Amino acid sequence: MPYAKPFAPHYTAIVVGARCAGAATAMLLARQGARVLMIDRDRRGTDTLSTHALMRGAVMQLSSWGLLDKVIDAGTPAIRKTSFIYGDEAVDLDIQPSHGVDALYAPRRYVLDSILADAAEAAGVDTRFEMSLRGLLTGADGRVRGAVIDTGDGETVPVSADIVIGADGKQSSVARFAGAEVQRRAQHATAVVYGYFDGIPDHGNRWYFTPGYAAGAIPTNNGQTCVFVSMPRLTYLEQIRGRLEAGLRGLADDVFPDLAARLAPAKLDRRPIGFVGHHGHLRRAAGPGWALVGDAGYFKDQSTAHGITDALRDAEILARAVASGPSGLARYQETRDALSRGMFDVTERIASLDWSMDEVKRLHFRLNKVMKDEQDWMAASFAAEPRAA
Ligand SMILES: Cc1cc2nc3c(=O)[nH]c(=O)nc-3n(C[C@H](O)[C@H](O)[C@H](O)COP(=O)(O)OP(=O)(O)OC[C@H]3O[C@@H](n4cnc5c(N)ncnc54)[C@H](O)[C@@H]3O)c2cc1C
Repeated sequence: MPYAKPFAPHYTAIVVGARCAGAATAMLLARQGARVLMIDRDRRGTDTLSTHALMRGAVMQLSSWGLLDKVIDAGTPAIRKTSFIYGDEAVDLDIQPSHGVDALYAPRRYVLDSILADAAEAAGVDTRFEMSLRGLLTGADGRVRGAVIDTGDGETVPVSADIVIGADGKQSSVARFAGAEVQRRAQHATAVVYGYFDGIPDHGNRWYFTPGYAAGAIPTNNGQTCVFVSMPRLTYLEQIRGRLEAGLRGLADDVFPDLAARLAPAKLDRRPIGFVGHHGHLRRAAGPGWALVGDAGYFKDQSTAHGITDALRDAEILARAVASGPSGLARYQETRDALSRGMFDVTERIASLDWSMDEVKRLHFRLNKVMKDEQDWMAASFAAEPRAA
């Protein structure tokens, strides 16, 4: 019975979506003293469509929120090495300590999202799974004043709030109901097939590139390695869909011999997951009484593995913006856009899969610079304590 407990008469914020963007935003708002309701139509603790490599910015956020230890305690291995394999050439890099982070992590989404949702609940967020957003409540002045919630028990309930935050993913209903226009749309979208393998020795993150394809091996929970191969949509539709394991192994055999050798003795745990791809977008981030965070406002192709990292960054920018009063949301929009443009552009080029080996190396240098600038900005901007909501 999801609706066993009635809602409060009014909330500071309703957050729609309880995964990395929503749970982080709700937790931070509640820690600032706000009264927050968070809903998600999924069941608690479930997995979702996503690989889950965290970049340094995400690890910085989890650490500063006091949650990195929980990720480690859940058996998520520390990743201390990254290798870029360009055809026959391997570039091995140790993860250098910086901004208090000396390792990367790739927690399964059911691990990470649960830790964040539990932390939100511990901070006082009224958390309800298996409930869906049905609409927004709008005042005569056009301002959003709450949400209509399907409680999952056959009831539809209007709930009042100062702000409704859409953390409801790339197909965001909040964005649709609020009329958030798309400011930029990506031209390229890669398809991907990924699965979890037992028996691959942990050599850190390994990223593979050859014109037309990319792949990766990411150590994760339960001693498993998440292995993916990315390809143009047409290749996926014509050759891979419907034969995912054979397709994943076959592509590795054909284009990534080092990965194929690692996969040969490894055992696949369950059926792989295929994704046909989705074009990135940058939507308007906020308006009167509403805001978007995570993929709802800003989605980019998975080829730069940066969606979770950006979601955790923007959760903090948005929570601080909400606390700082009416001008805060305009600043959230400006800051999110300024921090996201470089990543959006470089992701667009990498996601084309239409580069030479020299060009993709240059793109990785550019990606690295964008990430470093973002981390420096976060370290400087999040150092001060947030104000109360
Ligand atoms: C194949 C793939 C691989 C990826 N790999 C990586 C990677 O390695 N590293 C990385 O950083 N990022 C990766 N990403 C991107 C990453 O998955 C997203 O950026 C991230 O999931 C965004 O989190 P979110 O909280 O914004 O949205 P989501 O994780 O999509 O969560 C949205 C939530 O909103 C809920 N919801 C939706 N509509 C409603 C509604 N009407 N009412 C109530 N609840 C609702 C959903 O149930 C869901 O739980 C990948 C993405 C894909 C598709």
